[in-house]
Amino acid sequence: MLRRLFLALSESERLRDWLVRTRVSRRAARRFVAGEELSQALEVTRVLAGQGIKTTLDHLGENTHTVQEAQAAAGEYLKILESVRQNGLEANVSLKLSQMGLEIDEELCYQNLAQIVAEAQESGSFVRIDMEGSDTTERTLRLYERLRTAGYERVGVVIQAYLRRSEADIRRLIARGASVRLCKGAYAELPGVAFASKHKVDQNYRQLLSLLLGEEAEAKGVQVAIATHDAALINWAKQLIQERASSTEQYEFQMLYGIRRDLQRQLAQAGYPVRVYVSYGQEWYPYFMRRLAERPANLFFLLRQLGRG
Ligand SMILES: Cc1cc2nc3c(=O)[nH]c(=O)nc-3n(C[C@H](O)[C@H](O)[C@H](O)COP(=O)(O)OP(=O)(O)OC[C@H]3O[C@@H](n4cnc5c(N)ncnc54)[C@H](O)[C@@H]3O)c2cc1C
Repeated sequence: MLRRLFLALSESERLRDWLVRTRVSRRAARRFVAGEELSQALEVTRVLAGQGIKTTLDHLGENTHTVQEAQAAAGEYLKILESVRQNGLEANVSLKLSQMGLEIDEELCYQNLAQIVAEAQESGSFVRIDMEGSDTTERTLRLYERLRTAGYERVGVVIQAYLRRSEADIRRLIARGASVRLCKGAYAELPGVAFASKHKVDQNYRQLLSLLLGEEAEAKGVQVAIATHDAALINWAKQLIQERASSTEQYEFQMLYGIRRDLQRQLAQAGYPVRVYVSYGQEWYPYFMRRLAERPANLFFLLRQLGRG
């Protein structure tokens, strides 16, 4: 109920305009966002590297409406890759296709994306294409496949365990030897498209992870990013890794900045590869609302901050 409410509010322009102007909500958002500037995300990358944790950097923004906005968004990613290299850091990037112009023109989106992936290939980085609402899934996979066919290797996609179509997508990606981030899914979807209960989503997550760490996937060179903060799922995944994974090249754990930092550190200290998704930028509102939707207790955190003024 609350989840649906927050996801609906994540699209409200009036609430966004009000919240982004208030200092307290900006402070509250800092729990999940490194800051508004790239330099702040680079600082977080430095601190996490000191704890043996890698990062993937996300410049916040989605649903660009003009060609200029989409090109500017692509330009920001080229700037990230250059800054990471110049600062002697190691970080991947994560981006959204709606930010690169998917809703304006698929070809424009491809050209923006290919430019970033080419730069990442050159600098030894990696581009993860985040997955958005289910109306974009097929187009996202199509553009990913086009990049691979064009010879780009340092690019991966995301599959959402809540979608009913995901098992077929995982099989399609295994055949390609893809790099796949597996998450539960963060958008509002209809029951015909997505499983509604946590139990079903978790069950599907396990099933999909089994495929991604299976024999065929290993033979094809599949890499999997296990993106969850769910301690029970993580323990189950550790068991599966012990049984199946022959090298740490095959997998890594991924979590979001500001969530379960204790678990991030524990995994890294135990020798598991861990990467944290670090977001920065001014367009933090929809990202912040999705984080609130994931955990009702976060609502009280926001209200407490607002109450403090
Ligand atoms: C690295 C990474 C990348 C992602 N990329 C995408 C993507 O491209 N597309 C997409 O749709 N979704 C993405 N997600 C979000 C994902 O789909 C889930 O919405 C989110 O991870 C919450 O699910 P969970 O697996 O942590 O499990 P849940 O069952 O939701 O949560 C398990 C436990 O984790 C903790 N927790 C989870 N969320 C929060 C929170 N917001 N605040 C505080 N504690 C929390 C709580 O302790 C909770 O009990 C990504 C998640 C991660 C970690």
